[in-house]
Amino acid sequence: MNRLQPTRSVLDIARRLEAAGFEAWCVGGAIRDALLGGHPLDWDLATTATPKQVIDLFGRRRTIPVGIEFGTVSVLDEAGVAHEITTFRRDVRTDGRHAEVEFGVSLTDDLARRDFTINAIAYRPKTREMRDPFHGQEDLAAGVVRAVGDADQRMREDRLRALRAIRFAARYGFHIEPATRAAIDASAPYLTRLSAERVQQELVKTMEQVDQPAAALRLWQETGALAVLVPALSTVDADALAALDLLPRDRGRPPKPQRTSNRIAALFLDVPVAEGRRALADLRLSKHQIAWAAALAEAWQTLGQAMAATLAERTPTDEEVRRWLARLGRLHAGAFLRVAAARWQAMRDADEPAPAAAAVRALHRRMRRSMYRDPLQIADLRIGGDELRGMGIPAGPIYAKILQALLDRVLEDPARNTPEALLAEVPRIVAAAGGRT
Ligand code: ATP
Ligand code: MG
Repeated sequence: MNRLQPTRSVLDIARRLEAAGFEAWCVGGAIRDALLGGHPLDWDLATTATPKQVIDLFGRRRTIPVGIEFGTVSVLDEAGVAHEITTFRRDVRTDGRHAEVEFGVSLTDDLARRDFTINAIAYRPKTREMRDPFHGQEDLAAGVVRAVGDADQRMREDRLRALRAIRFAARYGFHIEPATRAAIDASAPYLTRLSAERVQQELVKTMEQVDQPAAALRLWQETGALAVLVPALSTVDADALAALDLLPRDRGRPPKPQRTSNRIAALFLDVPVAEGRRALADLRLSKHQIAWAAALAEAWQTLGQAMAATLAERTPTDEEVRRWLARLGRLHAGAFLRVAAARWQAMRDADEPAPAAAAVRALHRRMRRSMYRDPLQIADLRIGGDELRGMGIPAGPIYAKILQALLDRVLEDPARNTPEALLAEVPRIVAAAGGRT
């Protein structure tokens, strides 16, 4: 059985290259994943054609010179989807950040510059030939991540490979071959030289691709990579790592990036909020992701313990549920509870006290209902600034105070959220605030 079935578009592109007299080989991650029984969508091609020849062959309108100095041109298929075509190349000089490359080398040379044996297998659709000079298929079968060539030297060339090895090991449940592992350990102190963008990309890919990312983060921890790359996480709790595996990764199409954001937030849950923000900004995560993680950490640190204590003891009242929701906000409430639930389960798994799964599930259901039904924020009140002005109250900071006080009464009893009942409350609030209407 041939598991190597590149997509139609990739086969078309390969045929066109071959028809023009160039070799076209599928390489890298797609071969690896197909041999592991997956159905990869991103098939990268390696070719004897130079970038200019690729552009001439497919035309300027169908090509994008994405990394032309490294030999990579994207070719668009009929649906406009980009496929990467890279000229056979050798890395002449690598200082861990910038590479200088030479074209016109053999396929074996091209495979030799790849990081791990499982990523250095090639397949030529035209002849159905496999090229596997580093025995990547044996390592795939045995479940081993092994550097191509001398592990120390390969990690010195590009320290990112240390993190990539860990990601592949966690993703496939492979173990890391001892010399490769030793080279990773030796790499940890040098990881500071990696650009923040590359580290961020590894962290995000780990959260996106790996079903059980805790194993990867534990390796980051054991090898010293974590303390070097994200000092804010150097004392991260074992439960915080275990919780990552209890938050599903995003398998959806289109993806729900919130899942990855939740995993990142879960990792930073105990980090003081300002410090966490700084660490995430240092990793060049998006403003949105930073705000998301900060909101969940803030909620966890201010509300988490009280919620856990109540849930461990009794069923919370409707009012408590509403007040928790009001604190969390509709935007973050669902995510917060998912992240907290994962964390509490990790704690139970470690025989530490935490609310029971059934109590958390029941709370989740009640929160969902309350979230759609009940007034929880000032915008949900049946009166607003217009009505206060209509009562002759001069606009000013007092408005926010009045509305906040009204919300407090409504959280106590949502039935009070009628224009009449709220208007009747206003004079009392103003009087209590010592103000005049
Ligand atoms: P993924 O599923 O994460 O995309 P992948 O193997 O396709 O996995 P890419 O980053 O897309 O990873 O790289 C494609 C191929 O390029 C790899 O399979 C490997 O052969 C080679 N490669 C990528 N990064 C490196 C690196 N830092 N050092 C050496 N070879 C690399
Ligand atoms: Mg890839």
